[in-house]
Amino acid sequence: VDSVYRTRSLGVGAVGLPDQYADGKAAKVWQLYIGDTRSRTEEYKSWVLSLLRKHGVQKVLDVACGTGVDSIMLVEEGFSVVSVDASDKMLKYALKERWERRKEPAFDNWVIEEANWLTLPEDVKKPGDGFDAVICLGNSFAHLPDFKGDQSDQKLALQNIASMVKPGGILIIDHRNYDYILETGQAPQGKNIYYKSDLKQDISTSVLWVNSKPHMITLDYTLELLQPEEKTPPDTSKFRLSYYPHRLDSFKEILGASFFGKCEHNVYGDFKQYTPGQGEVPCYFIHVVKKTT
Ligand code: SAH
Repeated sequence: VDSVYRTRSLGVGAVGLPDQYADGKAAKVWQLYIGDTRSRTEEYKSWVLSLLRKHGVQKVLDVACGTGVDSIMLVEEGFSVVSVDASDKMLKYALKERWERRKEPAFDNWVIEEANWLTLPEDVKKPGDGFDAVICLGNSFAHLPDFKGDQSDQKLALQNIASMVKPGGILIIDHRNYDYILETGQAPQGKNIYYKSDLKQDISTSVLWVNSKPHMITLDYTLELLQPEEKTPPDTSKFRLSYYPHRLDSFKEILGASFFGKCEHNVYGDFKQYTPGQGEVPCYFIHVVKKTT
């Protein structure tokens, strides 16, 4: 049968910024994918908390809060958090959690807004000269396509995100190891470093090349849902997300440029200091950029 190649779920608008979560399907399954929001992997949690504390961070802007998983952890840990996301379908879950816990002062003070990286300075009120830390985690930045083929939208988004960091503050931003995915044609299977979901998952990878350059990577996630009784075959839930395949070196370059070179840049592979060519191949690269002026 003929089929049309879709880069996003049905029901998602084809013009404007594609909210890949707009049909509500991915948003719902995302909650299953990331598992219990209260139990992040210990490694992730201790890494990010000690990093923020080492830099004396109090005010955090989460620019891709999604359903709120990172933000909730930070609110619980006593940080002052502003959380934004472009998808109201994702924000719905964050807003629900905030509402349910509104009697806790920390949650009463948690700010949640809709915002798009391409218009961030208009969408978010910057406190004084900026936030102590801005985070963009969970392979979120790669959601932004290269609309014009020259990465100008991604550069603008990064510049907007960097403009929210105060001098001396940090940006923490990550992406999957697309160098590895392009080399092998497959995203690594198995557990995600961030989330602690018990569900069995499978990821199928497609790569779209345009003019001999990798332009888009589509990941089809299949989750086996837990059943009250053993059921064969088990019920599954699927969702598809598309990403721009940022290579480590070129991402480092556009990231440095978004701070006009006035920054200190550190790269981690799955939370450990990364050395190019090292034996162990990380699934995720996490960039920590300190604004120096
Ligand atoms: N950090 C969360 C969410 C990851 S999903 C977690 O780890 O669970 C990625 C999120 O990025 C989605 O919620 C999506 O709506 C958001 N996003 C994608 N493009 C965006 C844009 N241009 N502006 C703001 N948010 C965007």
